[in-house]
Amino acid sequence: MTPTRVTLVILGASGDLTSRLLLPGLGTLLKNRLAHDVRLVGAAVEAMPAAQWRSLVATALGEGGCPADELGPLLASTEFVQLDVTNREHLAALLARVDEPGRPVVLYFALPPTVSQRACELLADLELPDGLRLAIEKPFGSSLESAQEFNRVLTSVVPEDQIFRVDHYLGKATVLNLLGLRFANRIFEPIWNATNIEWVDIVVDEQLALEGRAGYYDHAGALRDMVQSHLLLVLAMVAMEAPARIDALEVRDLMSHTLRRVHLVGDSGSSSRRARYTAGTVDGRAVPDYVDEEGMDTANKTETLAEVELEIRNARWAGVRFRLRSGKALGSGVRAIIVKFREVAYLPEGFEGRAPANVLVLGMAPESIQLAIATNGGGRAWNFEVTPLSIQLGQSELRPYGEILEGIITGDPLLSVRGDVAEECWRILTPVLEAWRAGEVPLEEYPAGSDGPNSWD
Ligand code: NDP
Repeated sequence: MTPTRVTLVILGASGDLTSRLLLPGLGTLLKNRLAHDVRLVGAAVEAMPAAQWRSLVATALGEGGCPADELGPLLASTEFVQLDVTNREHLAALLARVDEPGRPVVLYFALPPTVSQRACELLADLELPDGLRLAIEKPFGSSLESAQEFNRVLTSVVPEDQIFRVDHYLGKATVLNLLGLRFANRIFEPIWNATNIEWVDIVVDEQLALEGRAGYYDHAGALRDMVQSHLLLVLAMVAMEAPARIDALEVRDLMSHTLRRVHLVGDSGSSSRRARYTAGTVDGRAVPDYVDEEGMDTANKTETLAEVELEIRNARWAGVRFRLRSGKALGSGVRAIIVKFREVAYLPEGFEGRAPANVLVLGMAPESIQLAIATNGGGRAWNFEVTPLSIQLGQSELRPYGEILEGIITGDPLLSVRGDVAEECWRILTPVLEAWRAGEVPLEEYPAGSDGPNSWD
C-alpha cells in the first residue's frame, strides 16, 4: 500500500491542544494505521528551540503509542517555525517553505478563534499550495452570524471539501457506534421512532471544573462549549435517517437534513435552563466558587451547566422530547446517550403491576452499552424486575483526535463538520442565547459536587 504523504502544519503548536490531544491522537494513528507518511511542522509566536520541539513531539506521540520506527523518521524531518499568523509576509513565507510536489499541505489552526479567522482572511490573497486543506478547531464562531461570516471567509480560500471543521466528538467510539448499532442490527432501527421511543437524553456531566481554561470558558459557557457543538452533532447521529453508504456526502447530508428540523420545545424561556456552581467538593477535591476562580468576570453571567429541550419536526420523531445537558464540577460524571422507550401498548392481564419500559444507555466514557429489560419469574412469578444487559466496549484503536486526523490526512471529510451543519447548530440555539441575554431565564446555582440545582429533575 502506498503511504499517504502529507505535510501537517500545526499553527499554535506550543498550545495545550497540540500536546494534550492532537499529537497523542496522531500517535495512535501512526501506531495503528501505518500507511501515513507525515511531515510535521509546528508554528507559534514564541520561538522554540528545535530540541525542545522534538522532545515535545516525541513525548506527545509516544503517549499515543507511536512506535519507534515511525517516530524516528518523523522526528528527523520535523521543524518548528516562529511566526505571527496574522502577518501576511510570515504566512506567505511559511506556505512557500512547506509546499512540496506530491505532498498535500494541511494547515491545522490550533489557535485562538479570532486569530484563526484573521489568518484565513489573509490566505484569500496569497498563493496557496495545490489542494491545501484547512482544519479549523472549535468553537466555530460565537453566533449564527459569525459562523456564516467565517464560512464565507473559508470558502473564499478553498472549496468546502478541503475544509475540515474539527469536532472530536464525531471521532468518539460511542458516536461512531451509533451508526453500526442502528443500521447493522435488525432489533433497533425498526423501533427507532416516536411510536416506540418516549424521550432521549444526551448528557455530558463533567466532574472536572475549569482546569486552567478559565480565560476561554468565561466567554463561552456550557451552552456554547458543549451543547452548541458536540451534543447537537451527537443528536444528529442519534436521529438521522439511514444512509445508503457511509461516506461524507451521504452522512453529512443526512445530519444536515435532521438538524434543519430541530427546534426548541415551546418558547425559548421554558425550554432552557442554566446554572453556575458554587464552592463544594467533587470526588474529594475542594472546588472554589466559580466567581472566585482566577480571571472570572461576574458581568459575563457565565453558566457552568446548561440544559435545553428540543423536538424534531418530522414523521419519525414528532412528540419525542430530546434533552441535551452538559456542565462542570458535577457529582456523578454521567456521559451517556439515554433512550427511554415507551411502555408496551398492551400488557396481558394477570401480570402484577406495570411492565417497566426499556431503557438503552450508551455510555461515552467508558464506552458501554446497557439495555434495561423487564423480566419476571425470577422472584414472584407475575411480578416484574428490571434486568440490565450490560457490556463494556473494547478499547478503540484510535483516540477521537486520531480518527479525525485520519480523515484530514487522507482528505476524507466524513468526520468533519460541514459548513451548513455548523450554521444549523447555531440557528437552533440562537433563541436560547437571546433569551438568556435578555434575562428571561434565571442563572441558578448548584454546589460543586452535586448533580445540579435541587429544583431540576
Ligand atoms: P493555547 O492558548 O494553549 O495555545 C494557543 C496557541 O496559539 C499557542 O501556541 C500560541 O503561540 C498560538 N498563537 C496565538 N496567536 C498566534 C499568532 N498570532 N500566530 C501564531 N501563533 C499564535 O490554546 P489551546 O491549545 O488550548 O487551543 C487552541 C484551539 O483549540 C482553540 O481554538 C481552542 O478553542 C481549541 N480547542 C482546545 C481544546 C483544549 O482542550 N485545549 C479542546 C478543543 C478545542 P504562543 O504561545 O507562542 O503565543
